[in-house]
Amino acid sequence: WHRWIYDDYYRSYLMPLERYGLEVPHDLVEEAWNRIWNKGYIHEVAQFLAVGWPLHYWRIDPMTDDDFEWFERKYPGWYDKYGEWWVNYSRLSDPRGYGPIAFAEVDYQFPLRCWTCMVPCLIREDMVVDRVDGQWRTYCSAACHWTDTVAFRPEYRGRATPSMGRLTGERGWDARYHHWDLADIQEDVGIVRDDGKTLIA
Ligand SMILES: [Zn+2]
Repeated sequence: WHRWIYDDYYRSYLMPLERYGLEVPHDLVEEAWNRIWNKGYIHEVAQFLAVGWPLHYWRIDPMTDDDFEWFERKYPGWYDKYGEWWVNYSRLSDPRGYGPIAFAEVDYQFPLRCWTCMVPCLIREDMVVDRVDGQWRTYCSAACHWTDTVAFRPEYRGRATPSMGRLTGERGWDARYHHWDLADIQEDVGIVRDDGKTLIA
C-alpha cells in the first residue's frame, strides 16, 4: 500500500503534474495513506462490498481459516475488529437458508453515501454532514466536502467550472431507492437475467 500511494500515485503520477502548474495537495497524500493504513479504509470497503451482494453481479466468497490467518498476519488487530462480522458472513452465505446479511443483526451500520465521490462514508470520524444547496448532504471526508462546497461550484477562483467538474445527476444512491422493494431495485439496476434469476443467486 505504501508503494502504491507514494511511488505509483504520488511520485509517478501527481508530482510530474507540478511542472504544468498544478498545486499538488501533499497533505492529502499523507491523509490517503493514513486512511488506508491507520483508519482501516480498505477493510471497511471490503466489508461494504460484501454486504451489498444482492445488488451486484458478483459476490465475495466467505473466508476460510487461511484467509483469517492471512489478514491477521498482514494487519495485526484485524480479527478483533472485523473477524466476527466475517464469521457471520460465512454463516449467512447460503441464500437458501438465510436472507442477505445486510438485513441481519450482525452489528453493522449501513453507511451513508458521499455526495462528491459517491463512495460510502466508511470512516465514521471523517464524515461531514452539511446543508448545501438546500439539501442535507453527507461527505466521506473534509476533502470531499471542500470539493462540493468550494471547488466544484459554478465558479472557482474567478473561472467558470467546466461540465466535467460539476457534480450532477442523481448522486444519492440510497435516497434514490428509499422505500423501494429489494426485488424492484434489482430489476432497476439491471441484474435480473432473462430467466428471472439474478446473476449471483
Ligand atoms: Zn467522498
